Amino acid sequence: MDYKEFSESELNKLIPIQNDFKAEFKLDDFAHWFYDADVEILRLYNDDNDEVFFKYIPIGTFSLTSKTWMWSWFNNYLSEKNKIETLKIKKFGEENNYEKLTNGTFPSDEYDGWEFLAISFEILKGIGTYKINLENLEYYVLIPEQVYADGNSEVKKMKQKKLECGNHGYRRPAFVCQHLDPETKRGFIESFEATPDMDLEDEEYFEAWCDDCEKIRVKYNGWNEESEKFANIKMVCENCYFEMKALNNS
Ligand SMILES: [Zn+2]
Ligand SMILES: [Zn+2]
Repeated sequence: MDYKEFSESELNKLIPIQNDFKAEFKLDDFAHWFYDADVEILRLYNDDNDEVFFKYIPIGTFSLTSKTWMWSWFNNYLSEKNKIETLKIKKFGEENNYEKLTNGTFPSDEYDGWEFLAISFEILKGIGTYKINLENLEYYVLIPEQVYADGNSEVKKMKQKKLECGNHGYRRPAFVCQHLDPETKRGFIESFEATPDMDLEDEEYFEAWCDDCEKIRVKYNGWNEESEKFANIKMVCENCYFEMKALNNS
């Protein structure tokens, strides 16, 4: 079978499955999406009571500006560890001499993306597929399974990532005194011993302040108007927080 026949037949197989998947989860009814590359979970939602979570595997991206496709195994910008799964598609392409499955990136169109999803679905299996529309990029993902939010600490952590850091993307917010930064050692006193990636309750946050703040805090017997004024706490992302902690502990 040549590639054209193969990809068309796979696409025809996917279409009814994809329609059922969309209908079952009412995917078109969700106004928002959010995905977290650390935990490889996609959230579709309207609000906190109207949401669904899926595991996802990034298959590839189609750039609307350069009109090129890029397979996830080739894409150094993607941090999802499970992108390595897409090497199985490449291997299948090598066995069958399907060039489009073996080249990392090439000029393409929006139809290729769906065919690639259909082929990925056949090789990697799942319950459906999804296309995330980013600003200049279409992000094609395979959905291996639904994730249930109840009692799931990864989902909880993901939903707490509400702060967009210029360096680290969406992260959980953390709080430090105005004197702390990632370049200067000033001491690092925490409200509790924090470790990266630890679970936090709702309304619980990483908090730290410098040696000078600690002196003032002790002088006033704890946090009060005066010591808080001196600290002038600012919000940073959790990764920035642990960079400051690492610096001060080095
Ligand atoms: Zn301070
Ligand atoms: Zn950050």
